[in-house]
Amino acid sequence: MNAMNNNDSLDPLRADCLECFGLCCTALPFAKSADFSFDKEGGTPCTNLRADYRCGIHQDLRENGLKGCTVYECFGAGQKVSQVTYNGKDWRSDPATAEEMFAVFPIVQQIQEMLWYLHEALALEVTTSFHKELRVQIEECERLTRESPENILRINLPELRADVNKLLILTSERVRSQIQKKKSPKKMRRSDFIGANLKGADLAGADLRGALLIAADLRGADMRVTDLIGADLRDADLRGADLTGCIFLTQVQVNAAKGDSSTKLPSYLKIPAHWVE
Ligand code: SF4
Repeated sequence: MNAMNNNDSLDPLRADCLECFGLCCTALPFAKSADFSFDKEGGTPCTNLRADYRCGIHQDLRENGLKGCTVYECFGAGQKVSQVTYNGKDWRSDPATAEEMFAVFPIVQQIQEMLWYLHEALALEVTTSFHKELRVQIEECERLTRESPENILRINLPELRADVNKLLILTSERVRSQIQKKKSPKKMRRSDFIGANLKGADLAGADLRGALLIAADLRGADMRVTDLIGADLRDADLRGADLTGCIFLTQVQVNAAKGDSSTKLPSYLKIPAHWVE
């Protein structure tokens, strides 16, 4: 059972752009591609970013070739760095902090994302035997994101990620074994499925961590109870696919894919508006 949809502790892990100094639109680079209609260097404000840190074309991003902006998730790092780390002092009124703030933001974003997955693991009944370890790791990640900018820049992210991953992998094994009781849980031999024909495939209980599923044909695929952490689902065709009970799947991954009202998603995710328009 997944209690994610009733989990208030996840609210701070959702982007609150009204409390952010346009950090993703400034700190991060992007390159002209199918997702972005122009190049932008990291640390440079996007030309569409208004003086009040709102996006000037927010309603028309897809029409303007900026699909990439619609599928980015900061997991609440924007408001945390703006309002907690820098105490509400923005980089335009205090330009001396700009460079440091833009370096702090992606670090906090990665830890906030780890927090999201840890909370998801904690909400599952099958992880009861290691809830204590999950809570300790959540407290540690939370503490790190509340450090000073200098200390945040010194965080050893690979080490932290390795500690978090141990718990997430254990969670994945416990969850997937529920659907694979009679056979060992599926471990996909390959992770590159770019453009692959997986129409109607039986992927139930599969480990698809970090899989490249870009533009894969997954129509009607059985993807129940799969681990999709970090899987790249850009333009993957999920029409008719069943993803109920999936873990570590986020709304931005879903938003980047194609689907329709026949796609079955985990209960805590919504069918994107552009799937049914
Ligand atoms: S187009 Fe809008 S959302 Fe995208 S980077 Fe620029 S200001 Fe931000």
